[in-house]
Amino acid sequence: MSMPMEMITAETEIARAGFAWREGEGGVRALVCEPLEGEGFPNAFSTRGGGVSPFPENSLNLAGFDEDSAENIRENRRRLIRLLGGEWTLAACWQVHGLEVRVVRDAEDTQSEREHCDALTTRAPGVLLGVKTADCVPVLLADARRGACAAVHAGWRGTLAGIAGRALERMRDEFGTDPAEVSAAIGPAARACCYEVGAEVVNAFRAKFPNADSLFTPTHDGHALVDIQLANRQQLVEAGVAAGRVHTLPLCTICRPELFFSYRREKRLYGRTGRLLSVIGMRNADSS
Ligand SMILES: [Zn+2]
Repeated sequence: MSMPMEMITAETEIARAGFAWREGEGGVRALVCEPLEGEGFPNAFSTRGGGVSPFPENSLNLAGFDEDSAENIRENRRRLIRLLGGEWTLAACWQVHGLEVRVVRDAEDTQSEREHCDALTTRAPGVLLGVKTADCVPVLLADARRGACAAVHAGWRGTLAGIAGRALERMRDEFGTDPAEVSAAIGPAARACCYEVGAEVVNAFRAKFPNADSLFTPTHDGHALVDIQLANRQQLVEAGVAAGRVHTLPLCTICRPELFFSYRREKRLYGRTGRLLSVIGMRNADSS
């Protein structure tokens, strides 16, 4: 079957943005940000196929222990992590749309997935940092000079609060990271094509960001489509990251249901949805 024209265009845009498909066991597919990988940071943004979960079937659901079995989630995570090659210990947390950034000191320090935070950072090789999303923006940060990385969960609340900038600050304080040396990957999220918010969200952004108008396309009655990928990109650039080192994946979780889980789209339809996982780490020197 030949690919429709708009999909060919999308594939070209994905490649131009610096991302490539990686395929693995069971038909698992993920998008890898190649510039970050080239700097020594294996990474992946998961998609929804190739797993063992319902939602509705063969889904690669990677979180949400109250809606899926731990056994399914463990198997799905194993398949995703396998794509990266080598040995990894996953560190994740209980995301609460807050501003807490947790430093993961070593592989022993990865067991507290119940700990509340919205960003993780580490300098420990073999530790794979993961954030869970389904419409919110996943942001991965890599500092090759200091050998440090971070994974950030930024929904509109976290974006409004400046979680990506907070993660950069924490990397600077902990590891001496200079934002000018950081590369970033902004993953699949509810994009400006689909993500409509109400006047209270629009006004909250306007109050906080002088250039907020660039993020919104007005629709009706004070509502607007918002580009939270762009908002995160702007925050990173404002914090000192070079614009050319921020790579944004041009794929929307709401209008690409064959690729992604979307809380907005599916929670309304089915009462539940799976979760994507975005991961980054530094390889252990002794792992193959
Ligand atoms: Zn869309």
